[in-house]
This record gives sequence, C-alpha cells and structure tokens, in this order.
Amino acid sequence: MQPTPDDVRPAPGAHPGSGWVVVGLDNGGTCNNATVLSDSGEFLVDGLVENESRVKDGPEVAVASLAASFERILDLTGTPRAFVRAVGLDTPGPASADGVISSKGATNFSQAAWRGFDFRRALESRIGLPVVYNNDGNAAALYAHYAFFGADAAQQSSVSAIVGTGLGGGLVEAGRVIRGAAGMAGELGHVHIPMEGLLADGQPVPSCNCGFSGDAESVASLTAIEKNLLPFWLTRFPGHQLAGLDPHMAAKQVRSLGEQGDPLAMEIFEQQAKAIGRLFTIASNFTDPSAYFVGGGVVEATPEFREWFLARVRAHTALRGEQIDVVRFAVVPDLDMAGARGAAIAARTIVLGD
Ligand SMILES: [Zn+2]
Repeated sequence: MQPTPDDVRPAPGAHPGSGWVVVGLDNGGTCNNATVLSDSGEFLVDGLVENESRVKDGPEVAVASLAASFERILDLTGTPRAFVRAVGLDTPGPASADGVISSKGATNFSQAAWRGFDFRRALESRIGLPVVYNNDGNAAALYAHYAFFGADAAQQSSVSAIVGTGLGGGLVEAGRVIRGAAGMAGELGHVHIPMEGLLADGQPVPSCNCGFSGDAESVASLTAIEKNLLPFWLTRFPGHQLAGLDPHMAAKQVRSLGEQGDPLAMEIFEQQAKAIGRLFTIASNFTDPSAYFVGGGVVEATPEFREWFLARVRAHTALRGEQIDVVRFAVVPDLDMAGARGAAIAARTIVLGD
C-alpha cells in the first residue's frame, strides 16, 4: 500500500534543535513493512509502507530488499540518515535471540542458504547501523504492551497470545521482551495445557506441528482448526455446510461463520478461548503479568464477536482475587503494523539504555 501524504510526518531531526530516530523493519513472507519512531516516542508513519520481501529468492536478495525498504522510509519521512541511531528488525522464527535463522530451516525461509543465516548481522553490515533483532511474535507483543500502557510501559508486564497459522506472541516484563537463553522464551504455542474439560467426549487429543500433543497451538491456531478441531466437530454436525470442502479452505471460513453465530463455529471458538484462558492461567502463576492481550484473526472480527471472544478468554483464565483486582484484558491493536512498530520500540529501548 502506498502511504498518502497525510500518513507521513517529517522526522523531528529534520528540523533544527530536535532529536534522533530509530527505524523499524518488519520482514514477512511476502512483504516488508517499515516505520520510523522519534526520540520522543512518536511514530512518523500511520499506515503500512511495504515492499516485496523476496525471502523466497534467498538471503542476499532479501537483505537487499530490506535495505531498499530502509532507504525508502527515510525518503518518505525526510529523515537524514545521520539521525538514525539504530534499526529494529523482526522476522518470523524460528531464529536465535540474535537473529540467526534456525539451522533446520523455517517455513518462511525455505532456501538452503537460509539455514543458520545471520540475518541481523547481514542487515547491519549492509546498512552500516546497529540492528536489534526480535522474532515477529515478540515484536508484536512489545508493540501491544507500549500501545496499551503508554508512558507507564516500563513499569508494567504483559503476555500476548496472537492466533494465526500458529499461536505466537510473547512476554514483556518491565517494558522489555523476555527472550530467554536461546531466544525461545515466550513460545506460548508450545506450552502444554490441561485437556481435561476442554475436549468433548470422544474428541482425540490434538497434535501440533512441533511434535507435542495437547499444547496451546494444537487448539488455538488456524492450523488446529484445519487439522484437529474442524474434522472432529464435523462428525458432530452432519450435513454442515463446511463438510466436503477442502479442509484448508473450510478452516478459513470458520471465523465468519462464528460471527454469524453458527453452532459448529461457536464450539470451535469456545475451545480456542478455553485454550488461551488455560495458557493465561499458567502465565498468571508464572510471571503474574499486569495485562493479557489477544491478537490475530480471531479478534480481527466484528466488535460483537471480538468482545465475546475476549470475555470467554477472560472467563477461562483462573485468576486469584488479588489478581482480578489489578489485571486487564485487551486486544492487540494494529496487528499489521505491530511487527515494524515493536521492532522500532526494541531499537529505541536499546538506544535509551533503559
Ligand atoms: Zn506445539
């Protein structure tokens, strides 16, 4: 999407006496999205500023495409390169905490040359500026945290569950992403949750692409709908309109059916809400965060459906009385921009050294 002039403001550094900026670059399977964040915490771009990510053409082409995205966002915002202190990069995982793509490869990075590729360092050498890396789930969690808490972000903690093809998200403590020793903290989708009372009578224990059975992603993801939930619930709703359709296409229709109150779809979303609630219950006993965020397709729906889903998640999160009084539940905003914005926030945090 091309930004309109109204979407873009000049960098404060472009004017005498004002400060520095950081750039956020979100690398996805199809597109990169870029943003600029000022030293005062203001985003200079309201919408998406995208170019083709070309990750399928291998690392060299993809790094060049990200560099082009970087140059273009500087042009659009009139930001002199000298004002840029750091660049935040986020990509889909799996990758190390420092942005080395998994040696086993990754869905988005299929070419052999990607295996073990140090994406962060390659971009850093290409553009000659410090690059701070986060996986896309952690970047989105960081943006959700800052968007919700604003000036108070550094004093707060949160957990974000983002329902997409898989279940992503992240943990933020005192305004910073918890990365873990190997970059695997906040892999919420692969946390085991109790299945008793979640599955219907006769429903098989669902399995996840990661090799686990009964983890959060095996219920709360689009893949889970296609492989686990829909095949089972179709046996309970004979003659349903989704029966006989290609499973992948059928899974994508479940949300709009949910918005219309279709009983099969409601069973599926109730199970997903229960899975996320049980995941949040684990979080409540683990890091006891001050906020619980839900994002992704499941809440990019009509306001009524979104509110219903969030209320169901909340109902299935078993909090203690002391927690109920202080915690909040909310939706992850602007998910399409959350990666670039979260990546920029991470870079700004490093520059500020707080
Ligand atoms: Zn898993």
